[in-house]
Amino acid sequence: MIIAKTIDHTREAVNAAKRKGKSIGFVPTMGALHDGHLSLVRRAKRDTDFVVASIFVNPAQFGPGEDLKKYPRPFGKDKTLLIKEGVDLLFFPGAGEIYAADFSTYVEERCLSKPLCGASRPGHFNGVCTVVAKLFNIIRPNTAYFGAKDYQQLQVIKRMARDLNFSVKIEAMPIVREPDGLAMSSRNAYLNREERRNALCLDIALREAKRAVDAGVRESGQVISLMKTIVLSHKNAKIDYIEIMDADSLTSVEKMNGKVLIALAVVVGKTRLIDNLVIKIPTR
Ligand code: AMP
Repeated sequence: MIIAKTIDHTREAVNAAKRKGKSIGFVPTMGALHDGHLSLVRRAKRDTDFVVASIFVNPAQFGPGEDLKKYPRPFGKDKTLLIKEGVDLLFFPGAGEIYAADFSTYVEERCLSKPLCGASRPGHFNGVCTVVAKLFNIIRPNTAYFGAKDYQQLQVIKRMARDLNFSVKIEAMPIVREPDGLAMSSRNAYLNREERRNALCLDIALREAKRAVDAGVRESGQVISLMKTIVLSHKNAKIDYIEIMDADSLTSVEKMNGKVLIALAVVVGKTRLIDNLVIKIPTR
């Protein structure tokens, strides 16, 4: 596996692969890799000839007081995992390689990025869009892989790629969960034993929501109340948001119909966790 810390080195290696006629798959990450990340890598390996992964804890997507400093950075372990998966190139830049001292150009998606995590974390998606746009320009992949764990991010990136004419296919991959249902996340490492148990409230609330919908409930308010009760019955769990939205437009729906997103963000102890479920409501 080539490890490139500079943009020039990355471009040279990617261009060499392109000259050989290889298709380029790209998996952007912030590291602290788990099976969720690796599921994207495996799909990229299956679909494309030359797989690039990036590890960059992007300062621009963290707000003041968020966990930028303490975000886990187990580089040695990540490197070993990526080698094992047969990744061809790891782009591992320092912050100075990505952001010049007088960096002053940002990419803003103005619609899908506003509700949900965009409302709780102002500026977060500007940071995400900016770094992803830069990474797309550096790597120029044929296909880039994103997880549905960050459903809103996936929709925002798809919109940005379309609006700004990036010639990259965005491939969405399903949420990978721990055996007990907790969605895998690098931030799960922050949880102590009790918090880890209580963190199950996100998955439990989503499964109960699904049960209610399967039983015929269509009022979003009713499902949200049910989910709130479940989350709040867990110790040290505080609700950031629980929302039901149209899965494409990310606008709230009162009556569930068509493809809906049920999304929640919960702070367990001091750790903010997100999870979601997309349900297709059968038309009767
Ligand atoms: P991150 O390192 O958290 O920025 O995530 C990098 C990519 O991995 C994003 O596209 C995430 O959506 C995806 N990802 C993170 N956790 C999971 C998971 N549990 N299942 C599927 N994809 C995930």
